[in-house]
Amino acid sequence: MQTSSTKKLYIPKYPKLIIDTLKKAGFDAYIVGGCVRDELIGKKPSDYDITTNAKPVDIKKIFKKTIDTGIKHGTVSVIFYDNGKPRVYEVTTYRVDGEYDDARHPKNVVFVDDLKEDLRRRDFTINAMAYNDDKGLVDEFDGRGDLTKKIVRAVGNPYDRFGEDALRILRAVRFAAKLGFDIESETKKAIPFFAKNLSLISKERIQVELTKILTSDNPMYIRLAYDLGLAKYICDGFDRIKLGHVEKNLPVYLAYAALLYNMESDFAYNFLKDLKLDNVTIDRVVALISAKAYYKRILKLSKHQDLTIKYNGLDALIKESIDYLKYDLIYDFIYLLRMNGENLKVITFYEEKVRFFAGRKIPIFIKDLKINGNDLIEIGFIGEEIGAALKNLQKIVHNNYKLNDKKLLQDIAKKAYNIYKSI
Ligand code: ATP
Ligand code: MG
Repeated sequence: MQTSSTKKLYIPKYPKLIIDTLKKAGFDAYIVGGCVRDELIGKKPSDYDITTNAKPVDIKKIFKKTIDTGIKHGTVSVIFYDNGKPRVYEVTTYRVDGEYDDARHPKNVVFVDDLKEDLRRRDFTINAMAYNDDKGLVDEFDGRGDLTKKIVRAVGNPYDRFGEDALRILRAVRFAAKLGFDIESETKKAIPFFAKNLSLISKERIQVELTKILTSDNPMYIRLAYDLGLAKYICDGFDRIKLGHVEKNLPVYLAYAALLYNMESDFAYNFLKDLKLDNVTIDRVVALISAKAYYKRILKLSKHQDLTIKYNGLDALIKESIDYLKYDLIYDFIYLLRMNGENLKVITFYEEKVRFFAGRKIPIFIKDLKINGNDLIEIGFIGEEIGAALKNLQKIVHNNYKLNDKKLLQDIAKKAYNIYKSI
């Protein structure tokens, strides 16, 4: 086996404990995949996976607390409690994949005794390395060389590998984006032959990879999906996106909002639904995209008016936009405008206003009004009239916060009520 002990890699406490415990029980075990790759290039691994010749039944006997995460595929999660906080590690038996079904899933997996066989079924050379302190780095496919060359290369014949599982195509883009690497030329050449098989892959799996690309260090590598001819197979509407500018390492919702910045909110909604994103993320993205309408109005008004004038109607509009996005999202929205190169002077003005309103606790939301639904019921409003009246009073207060006084608002509401009833 190709091992090299030139460099000692760091293995954190619990993965080390798992490896040592398995070793004491007579098994071999290694950290494997992404964590080895990341350790070698000095990136912090997102998690540590362990591979072993112990079978799931053995793993379950050896460790106190386990969960059958993917027992059919040989994966058992081992859990430790660190000050009451659960720490979960996936421990997987050396395996090879059986025959592939529809370019998607292996029909079955077969456990094997040889680590090399397990490494061979992995997607890219940089992901096909294992390490433990006894054996050092196990690198059968020159993953370390490819890390130095900064390339993503399929393990073995790329035509076979993409033919088995088309998701690997998108994963190639994902690792290129994560690491700022190129896709090796033979691997790249094979991609167009299998691109259409991406449409057979579940949207959940596609979404995981897409999200990782968009939140990576190089999100604009998403262009590779277009250059490689993947766009029309990734998900509904993907090929119609006029790409917005996505900065690196954004939270998921903001990365999607940036990607979809040039699109309408209906499009964004359908696109994200198709991708099976969670509803909280979808709601945020759609709100951020819809809020562009406020920016357009702010931009238009500010063109006609001097931004240094104290009152010019812009304040009310800005307050309305805060009411729509809440303080949770308004700063993200301003960030989004900046990312996409909107008018810097207007954005600066907008942000200063928002910060001023927030700092002074200027009334923005209906809950900030000194009048509430019960006060309106006392005046005589009923049913839907109450909400509508509160909205109108909110507008009045947006125009002049000094009017946020219970007595004043009651008087305004009474007058409105009398006029309303007399017609
Ligand atoms: P990250 O740090 O972003 O999680 P990772 O390398 O750990 O990256 P995962 O998707 O978590 O990536 O997969 C873990 C490992 O499992 C990979 O490093 C690779 O060895 C293997 N793997 C995952 N998916 C596939 C696949 N579709 N085909 C072949 N091997 C795969
Ligand atoms: Mg991982």
